[in-house]
Amino acid sequence: MTRIFSGIKPSGHVTLGNYLGAVRRWVEVDQHRAEALFCVVDLHALTVDHDPARVRRLSRQAASLLLAAGLDPRLCTVFAQSHVAEHARLSCLLECVASEAEARRMAEYAERAGAARRAGRGVRLSLLTYPVLMAADILGYRADEVPVGDDQAEHVELARELAVRFNQRYGAVFVVPRVTLSPVGARVMDLREPAVAMGKSSASAAGVVYLLDEPEVIARKVMAAVTDDEPGVSYDREGRAGLANLLEILSACTGKEPQVLAESYGDAEALKRDTAEAVVEALRPLRARHAGLSADPGYVDGVLREGAARARELARPTVDAAYRAIGLLPPG
Ligand code: ATP
Ligand code: MG
Repeated sequence: MTRIFSGIKPSGHVTLGNYLGAVRRWVEVDQHRAEALFCVVDLHALTVDHDPARVRRLSRQAASLLLAAGLDPRLCTVFAQSHVAEHARLSCLLECVASEAEARRMAEYAERAGAARRAGRGVRLSLLTYPVLMAADILGYRADEVPVGDDQAEHVELARELAVRFNQRYGAVFVVPRVTLSPVGARVMDLREPAVAMGKSSASAAGVVYLLDEPEVIARKVMAAVTDDEPGVSYDREGRAGLANLLEILSACTGKEPQVLAESYGDAEALKRDTAEAVVEALRPLRARHAGLSADPGYVDGVLREGAARARELARPTVDAAYRAIGLLPPG
C-alpha cells in the first residue's frame, strides 16, 4: 500500500495557505487512499527564536486543527514529531550523508538566514540542518509520497537525493519519495504582498488569513487585498499577481477554474466579496469542530499518544536497518 507522510510546523497559527496547499488534500484524498501519517513537526519550530509556552500551545492547536479539518485517527496516524525519537536518530545519520553545501543551497534557508542577519539576530544551526531532519521525517517511514505546498518541494527533492545516496553507499534501506502538489492552492500568496507566499510566521498578519480568524476578520482581510489599478478582472499570475491570488483562492473553494472565474467578474470588488464569502463558508465547519475539540484537550492528547505509538512501530525497523547499514554496532 502507498505510504504518505506530511507535516505542519507549530511556528504560528495555521493559515489558509496551509489549508488549501496541504491539509485539505490530506483530509479529502490522502487519508482515504493510502497509509498516511501526518505530523506536527514541533522540532522544526525550534529553528528560529521561539517561546517555549507558545510552541507547546501551538502544537496542541495544530493537532486539534488537523482533526477539526477532518483527519480521522481511524484512517490515518496523527502525532507529534518529538514524541518519536526515530526522527532525531535518523537525522544524525543523514547529516553524515548530506553535505554542508547542499544544505546552504536551500532557498528557504537563504531567505530566512538573510532576514535574521539583516535584523541583527543570530541564525540557529538547526535552521541550516532542518531540511535534513525533514528528510529523516520522510525516509524513516519509507513514505512513497509527500503532499506539500510548492515551497517545500526543494526539501522533498533533498530527501530524494539523500535516499538515493544512502542506498547506493550503504544498501537499499530507503524508499525514494516523491512530492505531490495540489492542482490548485499549491502557493497561496499574502493578500497584502502578493509577491510573497502567505506564511504562518510572517511578520505582518494583515495579509494572512488564519483558520481561526473570526469571519468578520477574514472578510476584512480579503476586502483589503492588494490588487492593481488596471480596470477589469483577468487571470495573469505574473502581471496581475493580487487578482490571480484571489482567483486561485476562489477556485480552490469553488472547484471552478481561475480563468473561467475571471471572465465572470467585471471588477475586483465583486471578486473580493465572493472570495471572502467562499473562504468564510469553507472554514465554517472546521471552526465549529475546533471549538468542540479545544474543550476536550484530553482527546487530542490521546490521539497524539496513540499516533506516536503507531509511528514508532513503523519507523523503528527502518531506522534500525539504517544504523546497521551505515556501520554502527548493533546493541547486544
Ligand atoms: P512558516 O512560515 O513557519 O514556514 P508555513 O505557513 O510555511 O509556516 P509550514 O508548516 O512550513 O507552514 O508548512 C505546512 C504545509 O503548508 C507545507 O506543506 C507547506 O508547503 C504548505 N504551505 C505553507 N504555506 C503555503 C502557502 N502559502 N500556500 C500553499 N501551501 C503552503
Ligand atoms: Mg514553511
